Amino acid sequence: MSKGTPSSAGGKIVHFRCRRCGRHSFHRQRRVCSSCGFGRTAHLRRYDWAKLR
Ligand SMILES: [Zn+2]
Repeated sequence: MSKGTPSSAGGKIVHFRCRRCGRHSFHRQRRVCSSCGFGRTAHLRRYDWAKLR
């Protein structure tokens, strides 16, 4: 990465669609959802600063 902002860096897929929260935040290798914490915690990952609409 030298300059510019490549829209697709090799096309590597790192996130899948989470089947619990439905967001595209399920990490492929870590097997955890960065949005709801699926695969990491049994409860929904909730923070005050990340309010759901
Ligand atoms: Zn999720």
